[in-house]
Amino acid sequence: MATLAVHNEFNVYESADARFEAAARKLGLEDGLYRFLKYPNKEITVYIPVVLDTARLEVFIGYRVHHSIVRGPGKGGIRFAPTVTLDEVRALASWMTWKCAVVNIPFGGAKGGVVCDPGKLSHGEQTMAWIMDTYSMHVRHTETAVVTGKPIDLGGSRGRQEATGRGVLINCDRALAKFRMLRVNTRVIVQGFGNVGSMAAMLMYDAGYKIVGVADIHGALYNERGFDIPKLMDWVIGQSKPLPDFPEGGAKMSANEILFQPAELIIPAAIENQITSENAHRLQARILCEGANGPTTALADEILDRKGIFVIPDILANAGGVTVSYFEWVQDRQGFFWSEKEVNDRLREVIEHSFEEVIRYAETHHVNNRVAAYMLAIDRVAFALRERGIYA
Ligand code: NAD
Repeated sequence: MATLAVHNEFNVYESADARFEAAARKLGLEDGLYRFLKYPNKEITVYIPVVLDTARLEVFIGYRVHHSIVRGPGKGGIRFAPTVTLDEVRALASWMTWKCAVVNIPFGGAKGGVVCDPGKLSHGEQTMAWIMDTYSMHVRHTETAVVTGKPIDLGGSRGRQEATGRGVLINCDRALAKFRMLRVNTRVIVQGFGNVGSMAAMLMYDAGYKIVGVADIHGALYNERGFDIPKLMDWVIGQSKPLPDFPEGGAKMSANEILFQPAELIIPAAIENQITSENAHRLQARILCEGANGPTTALADEILDRKGIFVIPDILANAGGVTVSYFEWVQDRQGFFWSEKEVNDRLREVIEHSFEEVIRYAETHHVNNRVAAYMLAIDRVAFALRERGIYA
């Protein structure tokens, strides 16, 4: 078997698969278990007829992939994008399996995707309320726990919106504690200023980190003095202005170039395939915390290893969101809702514990953090498969 079975470095399915292969090999996973976990449980393609505001009927293609429901119901959001493919949804579904297992919450992994341009359609958390309502009509009672990310008044959880960014902050805090670094001396670059990036930047700014680099789809800014993130939030999110035009300025550059500027901590929180075999050698940071899914290609991992960069892999770094989704499900099933402090305290407990488990696993098995996270996750799913008697 080749070291890494990657033909196209930028294919997310191949990237996800290469990580699974590497961890499965290290674990010495039995052949049957390996095959069971490598492939999804099921996939469906649907054609969704929708009458648009213009009265034209459009048919959208949608995919749903269940990778594994061995540890619990298949958790996984719906990606709305013109570029969605079945392969991508497959990769994201398996990531969800490993992500839920690495933070040890009782969910399996799934994902959905609809090929459409969300910029041209109505959108928002109300979509989740519609899904909940449609499902409830079928079962003839209100079933709020069927989807997460709902508005708070309809069974949503406090703290869900910031959860992924907060999980990033908690992971970074643990890494700083490990290296005895101080927040005030830690320069941070955040690529992406959407849900994950803006929340991470805001929470880290409040916590005392110095945010010296920021980027969105329009480009990036670098400023050694640090950015006033509340003002930047107002500019980008409040006023919908392009990030690089922020009047308090800094050096302008491309959204990819920002990742290679001087900083102790880099947080890619935008899209896939940003750190590759072509550019990984240029990273200057001590710590890479992957807010996005798959920002680093499988071929870049080796280069980061050689450079001794401490990687907090995506399935751990951005697991704050799925953890609070789990809390939403728990609250819906209890019919008892927690305060924001309770949500945040429980999130901290889960992420800190998972971080320590991954780091300890990496140290005791002499593997990098990413391989450790995958090994831990695969081992947990394989254990559940045996315990349930699905695999003897
Ligand atoms: P989002 O759509 O809210 O924001 C994406 C941000 O990235 C925007 O600021 C956009 O301008 C920017 N961007 C897009 N293309 C870019 C490019 N080429 N270069 C630089 N910036 C670019 O998305 P999000 O919810 O913040 O998700 C970001 C990433 O985190 C995705 O990979 C997503 O899968 C992952 N993730 C999100 C959550 C969550 O709870 N939202 C949870 C886990 C993982």
